[in-house]
Amino acid sequence: MPGEPRGVVQVAVAVPLRRVFDYRCEKAPAAGARVRVPFGRGGRGGRAMLGVVVSNNPAQGGHRLKPISEALDDANLFGARLLELLVWAARYYHHPLGEVLQTALPAALRKGQALADPDRQWWVRALPGGQSGAAPALGRAPAQRRLYEELRGGGWVRQAALRERCPGHRDALRRLQEKGLVEIALRPAHPLPPPGAAPNGESAPTLNAQQRAAVEAISGQDGGFASFLLHGVTGSGKTEVYLEAAKRCIAGGGQVLILVPEIALTPQLVARVQARLGGGVSVLHSGLPAEQRYRAWWSAREGRAAAVLGTRSAVFTPLKSPGLMIVDEEHDISYKQQDGFRYHARDLAIKRASLENIPVVLGSATPSMETRHNTGEGRHRRLVLEHRIGAARLPRIALVDLKKHRATDGISTPLLRAIGRRLERGEQSILFLNRRGFAPTVQCGQCGWQAACRRCDARLTCHRHRDEEQFQCHHCGRAEAARLVCADCGARLLLIGAGTQRLDGYLRKKFPEARISRLDRDRVASQAKLERELNAIRTGETDIIIGTQLIAKGHDFSRVTLVGVVNSDQGLYSIDFRAPEYLFQQLVQVSGRAGRAAAPGEVLVQTAHPGHPTLQTLHRHDFERFARHCMAERRAANCPPFSHLALWRAESTDPAAAVQFLRRVAAAGRRMAGRFPPVQIMDAVVSPMEKRAGRYRAQLLVKSAARGPLHRLLDEWIAAIENHPRSRRARWSIDIDPMEMF
Ligand code: ADP
Ligand code: ZN
Ligand code: ZN
Repeated sequence: MPGEPRGVVQVAVAVPLRRVFDYRCEKAPAAGARVRVPFGRGGRGGRAMLGVVVSNNPAQGGHRLKPISEALDDANLFGARLLELLVWAARYYHHPLGEVLQTALPAALRKGQALADPDRQWWVRALPGGQSGAAPALGRAPAQRRLYEELRGGGWVRQAALRERCPGHRDALRRLQEKGLVEIALRPAHPLPPPGAAPNGESAPTLNAQQRAAVEAISGQDGGFASFLLHGVTGSGKTEVYLEAAKRCIAGGGQVLILVPEIALTPQLVARVQARLGGGVSVLHSGLPAEQRYRAWWSAREGRAAAVLGTRSAVFTPLKSPGLMIVDEEHDISYKQQDGFRYHARDLAIKRASLENIPVVLGSATPSMETRHNTGEGRHRRLVLEHRIGAARLPRIALVDLKKHRATDGISTPLLRAIGRRLERGEQSILFLNRRGFAPTVQCGQCGWQAACRRCDARLTCHRHRDEEQFQCHHCGRAEAARLVCADCGARLLLIGAGTQRLDGYLRKKFPEARISRLDRDRVASQAKLERELNAIRTGETDIIIGTQLIAKGHDFSRVTLVGVVNSDQGLYSIDFRAPEYLFQQLVQVSGRAGRAAAPGEVLVQTAHPGHPTLQTLHRHDFERFARHCMAERRAANCPPFSHLALWRAESTDPAAAVQFLRRVAAAGRRMAGRFPPVQIMDAVVSPMEKRAGRYRAQLLVKSAARGPLHRLLDEWIAAIENHPRSRRARWSIDIDPMEMF
């Protein structure tokens, strides 16, 4: 870095403002380096904040600017291409750059920790000599005594771990060291094995012709940008294609980034990837402790990890020598961040691959309408895996008409009989129901009163805890003990509809011998517990599995021959134009759990609307037909992918404030929109679920046939709103390419 004596840097600070700030400095730090800067008015030049340098002009004077307080890094933390992506993303999503950059940093660096090799850390231990004599002398130094007690076990303890347990430990530690009571040393932690370390055992199957063709296409790229849609039914061997393409990329010295949906990142998948790609796989997901996250981030940035396997936010992992990006289940909605910086990880992965000039593979059994459209337009190259592997066939899908076969506690007779047959044959059944609790509706048999949440426009769900009823709101989390007596007329309350708890109870009564496992967030709160349950299913210790979407994805249970979809109707007549697509995707995913090995699978879908086109196409495994139907509807309604959307949202505790605010936003937009003819501004309306957790919500939809004008209008429009004093009255945000319209 040239050491200019004076310069000006543009710094992005993590504040909700869509602009950067100029500071003066002695020696301009590189773009992508962290600095500490005085920010805002406040006493003595403002409050100290951490920011990231986004550009610098080493030649300028800038005498009247405030100086930066401290430069924390010498180099670009992200690397040039990733920084470019982040700057692009801030513009595209119209989100403050400072917040975007913070999102991309591990917590440790966000808090200002020095960029240091996490594999060499400071360790502390109590010295044996001190134990008897000196400890009493600490009587008047409680912090030192506490710290000393903490270390007394004798082994080495990481200093980072002490920080949480003993606040203010630094001083105490220094004193103890002066007294000769502790030893502090820089020691290696447990480094990752180097990339390409010997795969441990699991051998790759010999790929079939379609798989080979897909791998050749992906790997035959010589590194340049190309995007592929790998379209293959569930169990057709997509993962094997990713792994083989990844192996080739790594052999050529490249790093691979593999994104998977949140609930698909199971230890089973991690083990499979590690076994195949060697030990140098960094795993990144939001549940990871901050320190492990930092280590994974570090090893990817240093090039020590040959592959990064992670969820949504892993798209921001710096890579020393990126070679390939993979997005599994590209249609999955968990790739869209639903608050704050509302990015879509699949779309950013494509953009990143183009900036890095490397190939990207999007895999799915049910590609999103957007990806399908882009493939049709020639933006992605389509690779197909038509058949399931080996003897496995797609399951037979039958619809059970609930108007003909009444359900008891959620289960119709045909489904009950099908479960019974599986039990006789020693096979497993999965019952899929995306609804926790005992009953979703609590209603008075006399006057019709329904239990509803006071803070949300939503009904309360009845849960049973040790034979006691509890009413819960699944939107704000409120829970209260309840009696099944009407608050209005005193009559008995009815529990209507079935949740997973109710199915569980009913099936235990019907099949007292069966081993039943229920997987929902009430029963399996931790990932560890979920893993134990999933393992019990794999090893055949379970006969019937009742589960929510926790079990819908990815899991490869070879003994499951029946999948029962208990209630498919929630998504059939939704006001959300994406609802049929989500429903179809979800049903294909759960159906895909049946018959993955040689034993044929059967899927029974219970519905009150067996004639509905979505269910009819599902019944025939006809994704193409479904997709064509869906696309025709979207085209007619001018919905994505035939238009582009942006959604303003606002919320307030004041019942009228949010929608009033958005009416003003709409009016301001209409004054500008004349210059951007393809953009249509709808009316500000209250959200379909207006009240949630005590806040009243409203939204304003903006549509455009072309992206360019939409974004140019939003630039001007947001700037006008942001600077308007009334903008403080409601909490507002903007969502580009919104996936959920509630
Ligand atoms: P998908 O990702 O499309 O659901 P997978 O890659 O997980 O499919 O493959 C399904 C199963 O078939 C896995 O157990 C996998 O190991 C196995 N498999 C995949 N390809 C082959 C192949 N060419 N020969 C034998 N088994 C294969
Ligand atoms: Zn009543
Ligand atoms: Zn609520």
